[in-house]
Amino acid sequence: MPPATTTSLTLAEAANAAGSDVRMTAARKQIYDVLAESRDHPTATDVFLRVKPRIPGISLATVYNNLEALTHSGLIKQVNLERMPSRFCANQHEHVHFHCDACGCVMDADVTENIDPPQHWQLPAGSKINRLDVTLRGLCPSCAKA
Ligand SMILES: [Zn+2]
Ligand SMILES: [Zn+2]
Repeated sequence: MPPATTTSLTLAEAANAAGSDVRMTAARKQIYDVLAESRDHPTATDVFLRVKPRIPGISLATVYNNLEALTHSGLIKQVNLERMPSRFCANQHEHVHFHCDACGCVMDADVTENIDPPQHWQLPAGSKINRLDVTLRGLCPSCAKA
């Protein structure tokens, strides 16, 4: 699998692209920036630890609230895996998530250009797909080697 690419947009660009009018507080901008710089799909606690040096007074509750607002406005994605804390992703490219069963890492997998979901999954006639929300599971390259 080629290395996943992440397009980092500034919060303003992303808000524009998502047609969102999310309020840009200083905390929200820093939280978004942390996510845009991260490739590893951090949990809320990870985001909190990374934002704390930039905003020393920030609380975990503030991080949760802002992650929720950013998710709600479509600027970031919440990645839910069974029995694991939610992770967050600011990659605006259409992609699915690959989850390593051994080390627990989550990687972005871009959709190849010619994918035609109705050919891969049987859908009721007349269905319309708006987005792909698929989790692939397996072993990441370093775990597969071990
Ligand atoms: Zn792994
Ligand atoms: Zn992702």
